[in-house]
Amino acid sequence: MQQDYREVALFDSHCHLNFPVFDQDREQVIERALAAGIGTICVPATRCAEWQPLLDLIEHINNTSTVRLVTALGLHPYFLAEHHNNHLVLLDERLQKKPDSVVAIGETGLDFYDQKHCEANIKKQIELFTAHVQLASQHQLPLIIHGRKSHDQILKILRHHQPTQGGIIHAFSGSEQQANTYINLGFKLGFGGGITYPRASKTRHLAATLPLDSIVLETDAPDMPLNGFQGERNEPARVQKVAEVLAELRGLSLKKVTEATSSNCYEVFKL
Ligand SMILES: [Zn+2]
Repeated sequence: MQQDYREVALFDSHCHLNFPVFDQDREQVIERALAAGIGTICVPATRCAEWQPLLDLIEHINNTSTVRLVTALGLHPYFLAEHHNNHLVLLDERLQKKPDSVVAIGETGLDFYDQKHCEANIKKQIELFTAHVQLASQHQLPLIIHGRKSHDQILKILRHHQPTQGGIIHAFSGSEQQANTYINLGFKLGFGGGITYPRASKTRHLAATLPLDSIVLETDAPDMPLNGFQGERNEPARVQKVAEVLAELRGLSLKKVTEATSSNCYEVFKL
């Protein structure tokens, strides 16, 4: 019998399950995710060359497994050197005839972590991100946004362009003021392995106190290992542990946290 994804099941809103690091044992990784109560996984793309293989992989897994995979198409700022101007044209074309599994635009955003970034690099990142924001409104899709040392610049662009479908700020670790501004612009905030570290007191405080209807869970697997798993490849099953920590931080049951965070994802992605 087909699983009803709206029953209580966890939703990993950000996982790079298509990365080669999962090639050897992807099926087992999915089995473990299912066993841990994960019903849906969103796998955002990062590069143009990745789009078709990712869509093929998603179709294959959705046809052969009870997990449901959805995706986002976009150009990640981290891989700026690999993006060409015509990739935005190709993205627009893809979105015009997208399969149902494509539920968002991303992964996009701004990454100013590397302090050595020259002005030209920053300018190109801003142009690329702005184009994604415009495409999101044009295609009526939410955005999956990556921000490192760049939340104020991201917010400036979002305030100016007012994307109509909101989206998710993935791996959020900004300030309370930035969080509230994102929420007011219609965005949800993604929390992952970061909140499992006691030293991450600022982010844990936000996860504990922001409105529950603005929070989604994620692993960012294979990156962002949880506390106790440092140095290991992360995987979607661990979103269960993230949910447990969030439940503990908020004094709620795991069931309540699962229901709320998954329904937030259904809302953003219109599932
Ligand atoms: Zn990512």
